[in-house]
Amino acid sequence: MNFLDDIGSLKPLPWDRVAVRIGAVDLSLSEAASLLTGEAGSHLEEMACAASSLTIRRFGRTMKLYAPIYLSNECVNGCLYCGFRGEGAIARRTLSAEEAMSEAERIVSDGHRHILLVSGESPAAMPLEKICGIARVIRPLAASLAVEVQPFDEEGYRRLAEAGVDGVTLYQETYDQDAYRAMHPFGPKGEYCSRSRAIDAAGGSGMRFLNIGALLGLSDWRMEALALIAHARWLMRRHWRSHLSVSVPRIRDCASRFSPPSPVSDRDLAQMICALRLSLPDCGIVLSTREPARLRDGLARLGVTQMSAGSNTEPGGYTAERLSDPPATRAGDRVAMRAGEQFRREDARSAAEVAKMLAAEGYDPVWKDWDRNLTDHRSRSER
Ligand code: SF4
Repeated sequence: MNFLDDIGSLKPLPWDRVAVRIGAVDLSLSEAASLLTGEAGSHLEEMACAASSLTIRRFGRTMKLYAPIYLSNECVNGCLYCGFRGEGAIARRTLSAEEAMSEAERIVSDGHRHILLVSGESPAAMPLEKICGIARVIRPLAASLAVEVQPFDEEGYRRLAEAGVDGVTLYQETYDQDAYRAMHPFGPKGEYCSRSRAIDAAGGSGMRFLNIGALLGLSDWRMEALALIAHARWLMRRHWRSHLSVSVPRIRDCASRFSPPSPVSDRDLAQMICALRLSLPDCGIVLSTREPARLRDGLARLGVTQMSAGSNTEPGGYTAERLSDPPATRAGDRVAMRAGEQFRREDARSAAEVAKMLAAEGYDPVWKDWDRNLTDHRSRSER
C-alpha cells in the first residue's frame, strides 16, 4: 500500500490558497487534502459549483445507469457491518445460472444494459468457475458486465474477462488499518493488504473498468477520502488503459444491526463528492441506492457519473418481487422467507423513475455507453 506513504506528511493549505486553484485539473495531493478540511466545508457552495462545472466539462450532462444482480448471500467473512456476514441469522440463497438469467431478463426489461454481479465471498457456494459460467450465460444480454465478488489473482481475473466480464468492483472498506482489523474479525478478508493487491491484479489482467471505494462510517471520512484519492491516482498511473471509478457507500441498516463508529452526515458526503471530483477530474463517481431519493437527486449534480437504479439487494429479489410464490432454493424447495438483503435501500424508485428525474434535471440517462465488440474488433485487427 505504498500509495498511503504519500498522505501521512501532507499539510492542508488554508482556504484562500486553495480557492484560487479550484477547478484546475492538476491539483496536488496537498490541495486535495485542503478540500477535505472543516474550513473548506464552510465553502461548500463554491466547491459544489466548481465540481458541477468540471463534471460537465469532462463527462457532459450524462448519467450512466446500472443495476446489481445478487448471486449469493453466503459468505465466509465476518465483516461486522454487513447483513451477509458469516454466522448471521438470515435466509441464505445461491442462484443457479438459470435463476441468474431470470434476474438479468427482469432488469433488462427495465432498460438496464450495464449489469453488476454481486456475491458474498464463499468459494464453496460461488467458485470462480461458477461466476464465469453465469457471466457467459448473461453476457449476451449486457452491454457491460462487472463483478463485485471475492478477490482473485491476475489469472482469475483473466478467466473472468474471457467469460465476458469487463469490470471489477472491490472496496478497501476502510484504509484505517486498526479499524480494518476490528471490523473483520474472521475470514480471509481480514488480511488488509490483500484487498489492494487484488484490485491491482484486476488492473494487471487488463480489466476495462475498475471501481474502488471506502465504506463510509468505519473511520474518519476525511482520511478515508484522502486515501481513496491517493489510491485512485496510484491505480490510474499503473493501469492507464482501464477506466477508474470510485464509490462512496455509506453504511446502512442491515441484519447485523451495526452502528457506524464514525457517522458521515449528508453535508460531509456532499463535501467528499466535491473533493473527489475536483481532485480526480477524469474518474467516475458512483452513487448507489443506499442514499435516499432526494439526496441522490441533489448529489447527481455535483460530480456523480454513475447511479444504480431500481436495485434489489437480495439473491433472487427481482424475480421474487413479481412472484406470488416464495423463491426456490438450489434444491428446488420453496423457502418460507425471502433471502436476506445485504443492506436496506433508501431510494426505492424504479429505474424508469430515476431516468425521468435525470431527464427533468437536464441529464441524459445512459443505459449503454460501451460495447465489448468495439475493442474485440480492434484487438483482432492488431493481431
Ligand atoms: S461485506 Fe462482503 S465479504 Fe463482508 S460479510 Fe458482506 S458479503 Fe461477506
